[in-house]
Amino acid sequence: MLGSRLNLHLSRRTVAVLGLVVAGPAIFLAGLGIFLTLKVSNAIQNESVRYNTYMALQVGEAFEQELMSELRHAIAPAENAARGGAAADRVVTALREAKDAFLLAPAFVQVDDLTGFSLLIVEGEPLVYAPAASPRGDTYFAGLLLRDARGQVLGAGGWWISPRRFLASHLDPVLQDRLPGNSRLYGGYENIRKLAIQIVGPDGGEVGHVRVAGTARSGHVELLSGPFERYTVRVAPTGTAPVAWATHFVAIGITFIGLLGLAIVLAAVFGLRYAVLQLEIAQMKAGFVSNVTHELKTPIALIRLAVETLQMRRVNTPEEHERFLSTISRETLRLQQLVDNILDFARLEAGQRPFRFENVDLVEVVRTALESIQPRLDHQGFRVELELPDSLPPVRGDSAALVHCVLNLLDNAMKYSKSERVIRLAAGTRIADGEPAEVTIAVADRGIGIAPEDQRRVFEKFVRLETGLVHDVKGAGLGLSLVDQIVRAHEGRVELVSRPGEGSTFTIVLPVARGQEASRPEPRRRTAS
Ligand code: ADP
Repeated sequence: MLGSRLNLHLSRRTVAVLGLVVAGPAIFLAGLGIFLTLKVSNAIQNESVRYNTYMALQVGEAFEQELMSELRHAIAPAENAARGGAAADRVVTALREAKDAFLLAPAFVQVDDLTGFSLLIVEGEPLVYAPAASPRGDTYFAGLLLRDARGQVLGAGGWWISPRRFLASHLDPVLQDRLPGNSRLYGGYENIRKLAIQIVGPDGGEVGHVRVAGTARSGHVELLSGPFERYTVRVAPTGTAPVAWATHFVAIGITFIGLLGLAIVLAAVFGLRYAVLQLEIAQMKAGFVSNVTHELKTPIALIRLAVETLQMRRVNTPEEHERFLSTISRETLRLQQLVDNILDFARLEAGQRPFRFENVDLVEVVRTALESIQPRLDHQGFRVELELPDSLPPVRGDSAALVHCVLNLLDNAMKYSKSERVIRLAAGTRIADGEPAEVTIAVADRGIGIAPEDQRRVFEKFVRLETGLVHDVKGAGLGLSLVDQIVRAHEGRVELVSRPGEGSTFTIVLPVARGQEASRPEPRRRTAS
């Protein structure tokens, strides 16, 4: 048994190492998964910022081009009129007829007045606009230098325009028509159809937008150039854009990977615990078989020796004759108890141990048990201090099974006593609410005792403690497990009070029978104190 215990400890260590071998990589992989998820999400975010920057520039340029082409297109009749030498009012009429898309009245500025425009910019193309010192609030003058047929500058013709109103009315069609729909345009992850584009005016107020930005914080802001100074275009992913989705995915991914890692670790821990349990049971069973074999061999050898001696008529005196006969009887009883234990155990394990419940007097149970074990007690020099009342309230029970329990407790008391060969066997009642509620049978020895941390374990099947005596004393580790199971099947419990080196008291506590029809009870949990 010591060997198998040793093996067990070794195996536990091995199992712990195995656990680390499984759990370690699981934690590592989960960490790697989280790391990679963060990396991928970061890459998406970065790509998206790059792409948004690009898109913002595109949007700015698109608006400028839109404005230029509108102006160019609309101003052509006025230019023609000027070339033909028409008067200012005809130029204005031509401007008005050509286009009223700029919302404010068209104007013709005489060449003499042109200097009044503090910021008149002439580009390569003959387009002018005066963006800074606007005399009309947030409007700009946009138009064309008008020349006559000889190329002389007559003045400037154009419109006062409000970029805010122009953008608001043109934003959507410009985006839809001009921006590329090809998501691979810039090699980014973002899809143009899932971008939100917003134009913000100089005062920070929104001028217009196409689609609403999502929660991802990868929006990008660019200043529009040209006539749109101080106007900004903000490009951000929408809620359905891959980048917004990727941001949400990070949280989901990390949670998922974390849970997966946890599941692997838990599976490893529980799987290995189960393996240890099976290992323990297998080792206990192996120990059990060897213990039983040992226990069977000893009485069989003794019985055989006695029988052979008697057969050979080597016995001279009647006393010797009697001694051999009592050896046979004692050892037969021991054999019977062992076989009974094994059979009972097998039946209980299979749930096939039938109990015949009837009203039982525990005084009788104690007497029967004591009577049958008396020869062994006498032979080993035990003194029994018997404390039995005349009668006890009845319990519902199977008297043979209960005798079996008392026999097992007495057997243990004998096995685990050293020099002090005194056993106290007492039966009594416990009162609750002024009435006898429970009946008890206590078996107390002055033997080796049981350490507090082992007091629960001793009731488990196949468990034998590694005490000094266990190697000398035979046993299969079944006795207390049987007692416990049988007593629980009687709705009772087994209490244990023990101190190492001083002795142990096992007390069977059974409820007093109430009425004749006490039904077959369900097993209840044992308490060890
Ligand atoms: P066994 O066949 O080994 O006696 P049991 O199930 O009856 O099996 O007991 C389990 C273990 O509990 C024993 O091996 C022993 O270590 C311990 N034990 C049982 N009874 C006593 C007792 N009266 N005093 C000390 N130890 C005991």
